[in-house]
Amino acid sequence: MLVSAREAAKILKVDPKTVKTWVKNGRLKGTILRIMVEKTEVKVESTSLVHAFESKCLWCGKIFTSRHPGLARYCCRKHKDLYLYRAKKNGDPTIRRFKKTR
Ligand SMILES: [Zn+2]
Repeated sequence: MLVSAREAAKILKVDPKTVKTWVKNGRLKGTILRIMVEKTEVKVESTSLVHAFESKCLWCGKIFTSRHPGLARYCCRKHKDLYLYRAKKNGDPTIRRFKKTR
């Protein structure tokens, strides 16, 4: 079943804009229909709503839920530390870039 962005936002208690972003980046299954040049309509597959807050831990691959799934990348603090430690040791370019901007 497809629901509108507004309905999906209400169910998930997030902004309709967030719903649109999540459809775009694949977190939610759905389609973005272009109605007019500046107007789009978002349709979300309701079965994907249950997985909206799920993220996969970069360290152990465990699926965990988070209120801010776009930002959450680790299931726990320990795994974050482990991942960053290894990344730093291996000279991960994303970490270096992050360092440089600080
Ligand atoms: Zn983990």
